[in-house]
Amino acid sequence: MDFPPHVLVFPLPLQGPVNSMLKLAELLSLAGLDVTFLVTDYIHGRLLRYTNIQSHFSRYTGFRLQTISDGLPADHPRSGALLMELFDSLKTTTKSLFRELLTSDRLSSDKRRPVNCIIADGILSFSLDVGKEIGVPVIYSRTISACCLWVFFSLPKLIEAGELPFKGTDLDTLITSVPGMEDFLRRRDLPSFCRSGDLTDPNIQLYMTERRDTTRASGLILNTFEDLEGPILSQIRTLCSNLYTIGPLHAHLKTRLAAAEKSSSSFSSNSLWEEDRSCITWLDSQPPKSVIYVSFGSLAVMTKHQLMEFWHGLVNSGKRFLWVIRPDSIAGEGWQSQIPAELSEGTKERGYIVGWAPQEEVLAHTAVGGFLTHSGWNSTLESVFEGVPMICWPYFIDQQVNSRFVGEVWNLGLDMKDTCDRVIVEKTVKAMMEVRRDEFLRSVDRMAELARSSISEGGSSYSNLNRLIEEIRLMCKEAQRC
Ligand code: UDP
Repeated sequence: MDFPPHVLVFPLPLQGPVNSMLKLAELLSLAGLDVTFLVTDYIHGRLLRYTNIQSHFSRYTGFRLQTISDGLPADHPRSGALLMELFDSLKTTTKSLFRELLTSDRLSSDKRRPVNCIIADGILSFSLDVGKEIGVPVIYSRTISACCLWVFFSLPKLIEAGELPFKGTDLDTLITSVPGMEDFLRRRDLPSFCRSGDLTDPNIQLYMTERRDTTRASGLILNTFEDLEGPILSQIRTLCSNLYTIGPLHAHLKTRLAAAEKSSSSFSSNSLWEEDRSCITWLDSQPPKSVIYVSFGSLAVMTKHQLMEFWHGLVNSGKRFLWVIRPDSIAGEGWQSQIPAELSEGTKERGYIVGWAPQEEVLAHTAVGGFLTHSGWNSTLESVFEGVPMICWPYFIDQQVNSRFVGEVWNLGLDMKDTCDRVIVEKTVKAMMEVRRDEFLRSVDRMAELARSSISEGGSSYSNLNRLIEEIRLMCKEAQRC
């Protein structure tokens, strides 16, 4: 019997990448491919606890969840400043387990062929070594923006040109050695780790090899669309000709499910925290476009001082706000018992706070008129798709680059990086929700329309996904001939 191609999808074990690669896995399942979705035990535990992943995917007979260890103790936070420990552990522990898994017969059965294509996050570069060793093509997937990836690719050039480490302390100096960004990329817009002044910084070391590693893969999948990042995608194509831009993935999946008439009512949220749906009820009673949604994603950690500055700024703006304060997102204990009366009062009148929200649904809600975000790439794309203008307060890595593009290149909002002083927060919220509201709404509406066309039949992301599926089928046929 002729079994379908078998793809192993291996995301970086973090909320953003798991979220978008699970959507990719479902798109491949929908196309009739067998898919093994490989997650760390930690992610597996959280998915089982907080999502309906098992019942949701039971409709795809070819879908399997497989686990692997990330080598860290269960109570390791895997966020904020400790993120690097996760990357180290993946290299030291998971790498050998991955090789063992792929060379075993655990992934195949009498109804399932062995893996004939690996789609792995580009950070997990060991997957490429294993793929080459066992003769299975590896396609990389990156869940960051093309603009940030291009900055990563340019790191060796920045060092060669003497632009990194920085000489002097002026963060507004323009960077000239990232092709295509010479006119607007400042030192402060480079990935946060570039500020360390130390070329042996483990982050710099990790991302320095991106250019070399990525170009060794059989292709590169990006969660973006041509109309958003076209000029930068052209730059990346000079190094990786086989590029699949198939985003925004979350919306692409919904469109394809609707076309296949598979109900999305049992929609899988993929959240690694428990969603507090009471915020939707709260939003239901707010006027159209009146609420600013505030969330800094799954990894950012802020100080109590920063929390208070944001809080004062939001309350003083007089606007309504829905704020996600993740339980582990404030450094230190006891902030709950130190909330000044005026903040409690202002929040009771116009605000609502939850520990984790159904974000896609929140951004699609008619009451939401703005997004104060950390500029994580998934959040950015979700906001772009729903036509919600952004205020950016980037926390780390790719977010500094994304926010520059949002503010300066795409005109989809305001970049507030490096400050969260209460007066500035108040002013910026008012600018987005009131003073410059019409201007931003015009540009976000336009971009949202382009996003919708990209995933509609004949659009660039739609066609690229079809091409990806066809090429996986071809890989499978070629493997059979060997
Ligand atoms: N998210 C969510 N609920 C929240 C906050 C975030 O569902 O309360 C989701 C959000 O929709 C996005 C992901 O978590 O898909 C965060 O990914 P992103 O790339 O924006 O940031 P990261 O968490 O990786 O910093």
